Amino acid sequence: MPVGTLGSVKGVSQDVLEELGVEILLSNTYHLFLRPGVETVRRMGGLHRFMSWDRAILTDSGGFQVFSLNDLRKVTEEGVAFRSHLDGSPHFLTPEKAMEIQIGLGADIIMAFDECTEYPADAARARDSMELTLRWAARCRNYFDEHKGEVPWSSCQPSAVSRQGKQVPRSAQDDNLGVAHAQTQSLFGIVQGGMDAGLRRESALRTIDLGFPGYAIGGLSVGEPREVTRDIVLSTLEHLPSDQPRYLMGVGTPEEIAQYARAGVDMMDCVLPTRAARHGLLFTSEGKVSIKQARYAQDESALDPACECRVCLRYSRAYLRHLYASNELLAQVLNTVHNLHFYLATMRAVRAWIRAGHAAS
Ligand SMILES: [Zn+2]
Repeated sequence: MPVGTLGSVKGVSQDVLEELGVEILLSNTYHLFLRPGVETVRRMGGLHRFMSWDRAILTDSGGFQVFSLNDLRKVTEEGVAFRSHLDGSPHFLTPEKAMEIQIGLGADIIMAFDECTEYPADAARARDSMELTLRWAARCRNYFDEHKGEVPWSSCQPSAVSRQGKQVPRSAQDDNLGVAHAQTQSLFGIVQGGMDAGLRRESALRTIDLGFPGYAIGGLSVGEPREVTRDIVLSTLEHLPSDQPRYLMGVGTPEEIAQYARAGVDMMDCVLPTRAARHGLLFTSEGKVSIKQARYAQDESALDPACECRVCLRYSRAYLRHLYASNELLAQVLNTVHNLHFYLATMRAVRAWIRAGHAAS
């Protein structure tokens, strides 16, 4: 899932995302809650219609962003008090409020409000945090069950622009993922438990007991060594049902997403391809390329000779280097398009590998 924090994958328009083959993207509840605000999005018919995107969307719960505001937040049993990073205004996010906001935004998949346990955390702290996440998951589930009918879209929506009558159908036959759309959203649970395999197992089993249509592994990529991430992911996966989506949050490099997908992870999101692109760091079949380097100033070759994206078919490394060095807007656009294509191609290769009979464990 490419990350479209504010209802936009930075620098890339929706028609290009469609051409790239993006089937689902992630938007951030925290950011949309602050700007433009959930009521605006709801009145526009939900995020799909607002941003004119009829493919799938997932929103996170806002928890991860709020927990990243170290000095601006306070956690209690009820929820999290925090101050906006934009203007310092005070807010209070609870499991119920996180559900209300995500129902208003109207993504297809919404996430339970969890506490992302900090790293490192001692055993007692990791358990307390996991227990809090489980209590919050139950509250999310209860609120969602009572209010899921309040999603702002129905089976057909008018186009995002009022002068056009085109309908945006949200029905089973139009679904790119081949999953029948219910007339509401899917709420996924999140496994926590710090870096303790035993706590992760307990968190997985007790979250499954609550009953969700999909499960995420959260609380990773928070500063722990890469081998620890891998061990926790692989051990947690064993406890999650393989016939339901298994979503690994906030990972990773092209090598990592291929490795985790082969191990049975179905969904991942990461800002890396888009954020790195904006800093001139490009992923290619020959490894990473830092396009700002002077060595590319007169390099006529394609960024990645093995890549068939619209950027690699048309522009030289020399031109891309020039755009970046000149701080041209087009540099960020083209770099992002290539990196997204590279990530999506990586996932297409994994799908082909699975279809060829290499069963994911
Ligand atoms: Zn390319």
